[in-house]
Amino acid sequence: MAALVVVFSPLPRLRGLLQRCWGRLERGFLLPGFSGSQIPPWGPALAVQAPAFLPEPVRDTTESNEAPSFLDSILWMAAPKKRRTIEVNRCRRRNPNKLIKVKSNIDVCPECGNLKQKHVLCGYCYAKVKAETRLIRLEMQKKEGGPFNAPTVETLVIYDGEKPTEKDEGKRIIERPRKRPSWFVQN
Ligand code: ZN
Repeated sequence: MAALVVVFSPLPRLRGLLQRCWGRLERGFLLPGFSGSQIPPWGPALAVQAPAFLPEPVRDTTESNEAPSFLDSILWMAAPKKRRTIEVNRCRRRNPNKLIKVKSNIDVCPECGNLKQKHVLCGYCYAKVKAETRLIRLEMQKKEGGPFNAPTVETLVIYDGEKPTEKDEGKRIIERPRKRPSWFVQN
């Protein structure tokens, strides 16, 4: 048993082009054996019944007024040949390979105490680092005053109650008005 699926072509322009070519073929412009007045003999055609409530695509009646071909709006697609029982379907859907595995590598973050996967960065701690890095970048942008003005020297970030030492001479200094976070080690 075969099933027929009726699908409207998504390319109305291509369909119009095909219609025009088919019309020219019918009128004998592209076939040298047939003259314009002599109509070629008609062959067998496939008649397909489609529901009448499907919306009819807009066609320009100014150029071509020949009868629409059945190739206009029909596309043959693959269809199942046998029905699969619900048992077979459930065995496939609930196959252990398809189920979500239970994770046993959950650990407590030593910094903030939230649960995280082992060997994976803690998301909460990472968000804190990201926010602080963003603020440091904003300070840098304020100092530079625009893009492509970054100096070639090293950058030193200084928090409240810290002073640059002698070995930090010549470095660019970014000051942050807060206490140094515990995860940001001063080197
Ligand atoms: Zn954490």
